[in-house]
Amino acid sequence: AKTLRLILGDQLNHKHSWFNGDQDHITYHMAEMRQETDYVKHHIQKVVAFFSAMRSFNEWMNDRGFNTVYYELDHKDNSQDLVKNLKKLIKDQDIEKFEYLAPDEWRLDQQLRDFCKSLDIEWEGFDTEHFLTKRKDVETFFEGKKRLTMEYFYRDMRKKYDIMIEGDKEPEGGKWNYDQSNRKKWDGDTEIPHERGFRKDVAGIVKLLEKEGVKTFGRIDETNFNWPTTRQDALDVLNYFCEHLLVRFGDFQDAMHTDQEYLYHSRLSFAMNSKLLSPLEVIEAAVSRFRESDTDIHISQVEGFVRQILGWREFMRGIYWKEMPDYQTLNKLENKNPLPDFYWTGETKMNCLSNAINNSLDNAYAHHIQRLMITGNYALLTMTDPSYVDEWYLGIYIDAIEWVEITNTRGMSQWADGGLVATKPYVSSGSYINKMSNYCKGCAYKVSKKKAEDDACPFNSLYWNFLEEKKEHFANNQRMNMMMSLLKKMGDDTIKAHQERAQDVIENPSKY
Ligand code: FAD
Ligand code: SF4
Repeated sequence: AKTLRLILGDQLNHKHSWFNGDQDHITYHMAEMRQETDYVKHHIQKVVAFFSAMRSFNEWMNDRGFNTVYYELDHKDNSQDLVKNLKKLIKDQDIEKFEYLAPDEWRLDQQLRDFCKSLDIEWEGFDTEHFLTKRKDVETFFEGKKRLTMEYFYRDMRKKYDIMIEGDKEPEGGKWNYDQSNRKKWDGDTEIPHERGFRKDVAGIVKLLEKEGVKTFGRIDETNFNWPTTRQDALDVLNYFCEHLLVRFGDFQDAMHTDQEYLYHSRLSFAMNSKLLSPLEVIEAAVSRFRESDTDIHISQVEGFVRQILGWREFMRGIYWKEMPDYQTLNKLENKNPLPDFYWTGETKMNCLSNAINNSLDNAYAHHIQRLMITGNYALLTMTDPSYVDEWYLGIYIDAIEWVEITNTRGMSQWADGGLVATKPYVSSGSYINKMSNYCKGCAYKVSKKKAEDDACPFNSLYWNFLEEKKEHFANNQRMNMMMSLLKKMGDDTIKAHQERAQDVIENPSKY
C-alpha cells in the first residue's frame, strides 16, 4: 500500500528498522512548523539545532534514495499545523496507509491519536526504538510501592542490561553508587580539555526565522554554531567525551566555575534527545573506554555517567508517562510569584545567577547543578509559580523536550509534585553555592554574612524564609529534620528579619 511515514523533529534515529526494510511505495514526511516553534518561546539555538538536524536527516534519507517530502518553514504547502499538513498530503498523494513513531510528548501523542481516529485509511504506530524502557515500565516496576526510589530502578536496569555487573547480580567494584565521591569543587588547576565544538554556519536558518517572524530569545553566533546536528557530529562528541572528559566526569559533576561553561560534562543531551545517538550506544562507549588498557579511568567516573543515562533519564521518562497530563498543573507548595525578569536578560548583581543565566543565554546550555542549585534553587526559594519556571526551562535549553524538562523542573527542582521525584526540596543557602563554585568571590554580596543585612547574600534570608513559610509541608520529612530544628532554635527576631529581607528580594528582583 502507498504509505506515508511521519518523522518528528526529535525522532532522528538513523538506526531505526524502518530504514532497513523495503522502501517501495513509502514516502517519509518531516516539517518545520509554527506549531512547534510557537508552543513556548524558545532559545534561538534550540530552534536552529532542531531545524538543522532535521534537514541533515532528510538529506541522509535522500542520499539513500528514499522518497521524502520535507517542508521548510516557508514552504508553500506548509500549513504550519501537523494535522493539516498530513491531511493534505494523504489526499494529494493518494496515500493508503499512515504510519508514525510514538511521540515522546503527551501533547503530540494526543494530537496524533485524535488524528488517527479521524482517518478513513489504515494507520499504525511504531516504537522509536530509542529508549531502554517502554512508557509504562517505571510505573509497573514501582507498582504497590510507597516511594519511587530511582536507585532501585537503576539497579534493576543495570542487571537487566548487564552493565557493569559481576556474576548475575553483583555490581562491579562492589558498590552500586559512587555518588559520595562525585562532589569535588574544581580547583582551577586541573586542566579541563576544551569542548568538542563546531563552527557551523547557520545564518540561513536564522534569517528564515527572522523573515517568518518567529519569536525567540537568547544569543547566537550564526557562523560559529557549536552543537552537533548530524549523526557524525554526535559520534565525534561522544568519542571526544570518552577519550578526554570521562576520566574526571564524576569528580567534578557538581562543580561550577566562572571560567568554565562545560567542565567535564558530555554535552550529549541534544544528540540523545533528538535520537541521533541511542542511550545504549552512549553507555556502551563509555564502559568500553573504561575497559581499555591504556586508561586509568576510575569506576566512579563511569558509574556516575551511566547512572545519569540508564537511571535518571529512563526514570524521568517513566514518571512522565505515569503522571501526565496531571503533572503539568501540580503545585504542591502553592507557589504563585512571577519569575524575575532577569531570567530573560541575565542582568542581576547576584554573581551565581548572572553566570548560570548568561551561560544559558549564550549557549542554550547550563549543566545540571547550575540548573538545579542556582536557577532552580532561586526560583523555589522565591516561591515562583512552577508554570513560569517550566516555561523558562522548556524554552531556554537545547535539550529541553517536555518529557525530561517537566519532570526535572516541576519535579526534581521545584518539588511541585510533593516529593514524587525528589525526597526533599533542592534548596540551599549561599554556603552550598560557595562550597561548589567560585561565584561568591566576585559577587556584590557577601556569602559569609548570615544575618539579614543589606550586603548579605540574598540566598541566606531566602532560605530561612522559605523553610519558615513552608514548614508544615516538611514537618514529617526526615531528611529535613536537621534544618527544621535549626530553624526552630533561631529565635523569632532573627526569623522576622530574614522574612523582611526575603520579602524585599521577592518583591524587588531588579534591585538585586
Ligand atoms: P552530562 O552531565 O554529561 O550527563 C550525561 C547525560 O545524562 C545527559 O546528556 C542526559 O541525557 C543524562 N542526564 C543527566 N541528568 C539527567 C536528569 N536529571 N534527567 C534526565 N537525564 C539526565 N535534561 C534534558 O535532557 N532536558 C531538559 O529539558 C532538562 N531540564 C532540566 C531542568 C532542570 C531544572 C534540571 C535540574 C535538570 C534538567 N535536565 C534536563 C537534566 C540535566 O541537567 C541535563 O540532561 C544535562 O545538564 C545535559 O548536559 P550534558 O549532556 O552535558 O549532561
Ligand atoms: Fe550567589 Fe550569594 Fe554567592 Fe553572590 S554571595 S554568588 S548571590 S551565593
